[in-house]
Amino acid sequence: MAHLQFDGCDAVALATEYGTPLYVVSERMIRDRLREIRKDFLDRYPNTGALYASKALQTLDICRIVASEGIGLDVVSGGELFAAAKAGFPMDKIYFHGNSKTESEIRMAVEYGVGRVVVDNLHELAILDGAARTLNRRVKILFRVTPGVDTHTHEFMSTGKLDSKFGIPLDPRVRDEYVGAALGMEGVELLGFHFHVGSQLLSNESHLKAISIICKLMVEVRDAYGMTTRELNLGGGYGIHYQDDEQTRPLSYFVDAMMANLGTACSAAGVAMPRVVIEPGRWVVGEAGITLYTIGSRKVIPDVRTYVGVDGGLPDNPRPALYGAVYEATVADRDDGPRNEVVTVAGKCCETGDILIRDIALQSPMPGDILAVFTTGAYNHSMASNYNRLARPAMVLTNAGKHRLSVRRETFEDLVAREL
Ligand SMILES: *Cc1c(COP(=O)(O)O)cnc(C)c1O
Repeated sequence: MAHLQFDGCDAVALATEYGTPLYVVSERMIRDRLREIRKDFLDRYPNTGALYASKALQTLDICRIVASEGIGLDVVSGGELFAAAKAGFPMDKIYFHGNSKTESEIRMAVEYGVGRVVVDNLHELAILDGAARTLNRRVKILFRVTPGVDTHTHEFMSTGKLDSKFGIPLDPRVRDEYVGAALGMEGVELLGFHFHVGSQLLSNESHLKAISIICKLMVEVRDAYGMTTRELNLGGGYGIHYQDDEQTRPLSYFVDAMMANLGTACSAAGVAMPRVVIEPGRWVVGEAGITLYTIGSRKVIPDVRTYVGVDGGLPDNPRPALYGAVYEATVADRDDGPRNEVVTVAGKCCETGDILIRDIALQSPMPGDILAVFTTGAYNHSMASNYNRLARPAMVLTNAGKHRLSVRRETFEDLVAREL
């Protein structure tokens, strides 16, 4: 029976060499996606920029890979900014996001000299202006706005509707207060606007609705303030294949339609086409990752179901519990074997909700087999916790048959290292 091959590496051999649970991430696949961004967006359209939304998967190695492909970075916290700096990421290619930035994070962003701060609220705007003036700087900003489009995704992954904790509502009363305030400040330079409508979107419909709303906004601020929108950041959210008929779209499916609509709307309204920036996260890294587990117990409940236990679960992948996310998997030892048994894969945490995959047909998983769960590159490592004091997995980077340890496994000593 054939072992699962992932990016030219034998998955069972990786599990043996590095232990489980193990995040396996393909550098080659990530570079392929980053190069698609260059070819089908940056090289295709003038006056554009691209960022990788690093919250999807941020390690020093990933930051270095992204930098080496000439793509920028989106960070959402002081911690992500610190790590990017430590990886030597060029600061002018970093956009700092967040709906509740702390005063110290705002000061840090100014001191580090990030390329843009994406401002979410008035409180933050005032602190940013003060911090910039103290350091004699003028910080380039965008306003994050909520275009008010409802997306077809899990409620917790929808970020662009009016009733959202993210961004500035486009109600004229609110909009005027923000734009008016920013235009009167010496410490900030308002370049334009940013929206991010949601995540794991398989259709471009919501993005296009947001484009038409943002075009109206550009006309309104021009008419009210004589303000030229010089930059638009269209966020990320491009969906990928997790299960069944979910289809990963090429980047061009999203960006071609958005650029076409934007171009048409701009010329109709007589506004100059702004610089356009995109910032996908999941689409870059999601399918480049798999997680390997060792199968332990099997529990047959007659006429109900068979539970198969693994040596990880909720702490390394909270998405099934958080979003009801569904994953595909294989028994890596018998990848080509018949999938003749329906089982439920249970994590090892003391939570009834710690079920990794419900009712999946697998190749009769037995204790000691290696289970590979697909599409775990995004929002797994970055969302991992130590619940039940489980040590977080190691991460291996593969590259067309080669592999190397990138993040070492946590030790029990690591688990108590902060405790005084
Ligand atoms: C999370 C996030 C992204 C990336 O989202 P994906 O769905 O992973 O592409 C982009 N921009 C902002 C502001 C975000 O918060």
